[in-house]
Amino acid sequence: MNNLLRPIVLVVSAPSGAGKTTLCSRLRAEFPAIVYSISCTTRAPRLGERDGVDYYFLTPEQFEARRAAGEFLEYAQVHGAWYGTPRGPVVAALYQGRDVLMDIDVQGATQVRAYALRAPDSDPIHQGYVDVFIAPPSLEELRRRLVRRGTDPSDAIERRLRQAETEMARAGEFQHVIVNDELDRAYAQLREIYLRAKQPHTGH
Ligand code: 5GP
Repeated sequence: MNNLLRPIVLVVSAPSGAGKTTLCSRLRAEFPAIVYSISCTTRAPRLGERDGVDYYFLTPEQFEARRAAGEFLEYAQVHGAWYGTPRGPVVAALYQGRDVLMDIDVQGATQVRAYALRAPDSDPIHQGYVDVFIAPPSLEELRRRLVRRGTDPSDAIERRLRQAETEMARAGEFQHVIVNDELDRAYAQLREIYLRAKQPHTGH
């Protein structure tokens, strides 16, 4: 860990099917020191997902209790379930000089960005905030990918596409937009954004 480099909070958002999970996994594999922010959610675990690794799976009552206690840096409802980022681990990691990666939706990114802008200079989230929107090349290509992925029935695909359209309309609010038309190229861009953000004289 080079202490001359500031710890950063890298927020990555994307419509589902844009390739965000793959890109984030590659970044975590190349830079294992990055702390991945494990979100809380009220949705049910998918096959292979582990509590405390992929998410903290909570009941709506547990989620509400943590929300009311002010434990979330941001929270939002996505596809009918609640999702929230626990504040404690993010702040703790940054104070240890470690970078944090958050995979959250556009609503969540808006909240963290607003917090980062308002926070005083001394707040590590203010200093280290960087956000990236991953866009699919087009809605048609996104539809093809969702169909090929085969995890959603066609009505769910239509719902995700409408949602994607709304989210893509907000891509301009992000500091960086990566169009994921080719995975290696998109990853090279994400990596470059991450590494440049760590330099004290560049970034936002
Ligand atoms: P999934 O249920 O497919 O894992 O995630 C659905 C969406 O919720 C994704 O866009 C993901 O980025 C987003 N998400 C995951 N965790 C959080 C969180 O803590 N806060 C917010 N606002 N969105 C989240």
